[in-house]
Amino acid sequence: MSEQLSLGGARSNLFVIPDGAPARNCTSCGAIIYWVRTKADRAMPVDHDGTSHFATCPNAAKHRRKR
Ligand SMILES: [Zn+2]
Repeated sequence: MSEQLSLGGARSNLFVIPDGAPARNCTSCGAIIYWVRTKADRAMPVDHDGTSHFATCPNAAKHRRKR
């Protein structure tokens, strides 16, 4: 039961940055980001604190192409 609580949390979108994760600069805003693998095996840029960079990048709209 408690597992569902963590899944439903809208605030906690923190990712664990694994050792050796490549640090790069965001091509949009220049911030340092790390690429991690999500559970869905997709590459995800995250900030140094583990927050998804999609959520914090001031130019996030450029990351996504219009569907
Ligand atoms: Zn950025």
